Amino acid sequence: MSMIKEEKLEQLDMKRGTYQLIINGQRMDSQSGETFAVINPATGEEIARVAKASVEDAEKAVEAARNAFDKGKWRHFPVNKRSRILNKIAGIMRSRFNELVELEILDTGKSLSAAQGQVMQAIEDFEFYAGAIVSHRGSVNSLPGAFQNHTEQEPVGVCAQIIPWNYPLMMAAWKVAPAIATGCSIVVKPATLTPLTAIVLGEICLEAGVPAGVVNIVPGSGSTVGNYLVEHKNVDKVAFTGSTPVGKGIMEKASNTLKRVTLELGGKSPSLIFNDADIDAAVDGSLFGIFYNSGQSCEARSRLYVQEEIYDQFMEKFITKAKKLTLGDPFQKETHIGAIINQNQLDVIDGFVQSARKDGATIETGGAIASVKGFEEGFWYEPTIISNVSHDMEAVREEIFGPVAVVMKFKDEKEAVELANDSIYGLGSAVWTQNHARATRVSKQIKAGIVMINCPFSAFPGTPFGGYKQSGFGRELCVETLDLYCETKSIVSYYGDKPLNPLGV
Ligand code: NAD
Ligand code: MN
Repeated sequence: MSMIKEEKLEQLDMKRGTYQLIINGQRMDSQSGETFAVINPATGEEIARVAKASVEDAEKAVEAARNAFDKGKWRHFPVNKRSRILNKIAGIMRSRFNELVELEILDTGKSLSAAQGQVMQAIEDFEFYAGAIVSHRGSVNSLPGAFQNHTEQEPVGVCAQIIPWNYPLMMAAWKVAPAIATGCSIVVKPATLTPLTAIVLGEICLEAGVPAGVVNIVPGSGSTVGNYLVEHKNVDKVAFTGSTPVGKGIMEKASNTLKRVTLELGGKSPSLIFNDADIDAAVDGSLFGIFYNSGQSCEARSRLYVQEEIYDQFMEKFITKAKKLTLGDPFQKETHIGAIINQNQLDVIDGFVQSARKDGATIETGGAIASVKGFEEGFWYEPTIISNVSHDMEAVREEIFGPVAVVMKFKDEKEAVELANDSIYGLGSAVWTQNHARATRVSKQIKAGIVMINCPFSAFPGTPFGGYKQSGFGRELCVETLDLYCETKSIVSYYGDKPLNPLGV
């Protein structure tokens, strides 16, 4: 793997030294001069160093964003100009596609095809919002007599955007694109585990003509820098993607300043596989649903419910195919599954699996930390399928965030819906049936932000993404997201001939 390292690092020009913060249009070191290491999870090797933002740097970034918003021109540009610049960002990303893919693979250990798809989507997100913002507008409302009302969508202000490590560039795009499209200024805090592509995105924004101070990038720890942004009185909104416990803390702290909050949190998404499903399609979709991105997906379909009559048939195929999934060099296109983000996450995953084992569940395949030839120092977990579970087991209730599916039987539609909804989460869900009426009926009863009917994925630019219940609130990736980066201003006017004298004095 040192081959990979040298080859890719040459290509990537990563010998440029430390990746720096971006504040007020400048690349800079942190004020403390501190840096942190970025590790390739596939190999365990250090691939780069990044300037470590502290609270002082976060303060400078908020000031820059505040100043850009209050005194700068970005929000006052004609919308077509902002749109053009978003398209230009997408264009530069396209021209640097391979570099971004490689950087994302090195930073996360994810497979080539996963990284390619995610980088492509990040590009398309900018293109989507470049289009959507042009027709994003207020409304005109009829009033009696000579009164008129119209509304304007004004950018909310300075937004803190806190990004997780599982889809570093795509999650950054989901937040950066709609925010700057509306005219907001942003302070982005990438996850320290995976900061590289977000930093490059910040550089690309500058290159494309986003004015200084509109996009600031401060990689640093969540509990210091992230928390500072959430509490800051000059930050108007916080958009957070991450775990449910951290999201709850953010909502609580943001309440002191009544910040606008959107939260994209954890999940334990169910897949309902009915006896009238196309079984092969359900098997392939379910493999993707849980093992894509090594299961480190908030919308991973990690709870599978299979109708009794087809349970054996489904499981036989599901397990057989899961055993064929290959772990290995993320840069090889034959590799199905990449690495796990770090040792800690590996231990968390294995802890859940071993607790299920102890609780008497059956490990049908996998169930252990994997050793991958040539990548012995990396973090790998075997694709794991667990059966014979009950609904109160930890592995069934809690988000594992790894390549681990739990499978149960159900009798009928009613029981399937009850089991699906028996969770504190409500992010994704899948329904596999060839009966259209059943698909419709069931999808209406599922308490989740997303229902996939005979479909392995949902996150296309334009489709709302977000949760019910403790999976958070607010929607990203869609037109509605623009509203969440705006305030509605209602303007009421009177155009009558006769001046009004409401008090009659
Ligand atoms: P995390 O909650 O630990 O961290 C997410 C981000 O929040 C990181 O940038 C982190 O530095 C920051 N952070 C941590 N503590 C903070 C604090 N006190 N104040 C402010 N910021 C803080 O989550 P993670 O481990 O990076 O990501 C995995 C989790 O994210 C999973 O639970 C997953 O379900 C969830 N996730 C959800 C979605 C979604 O769209 N719903 C998408 C991806 C990931
Ligand atoms: Mn990394």
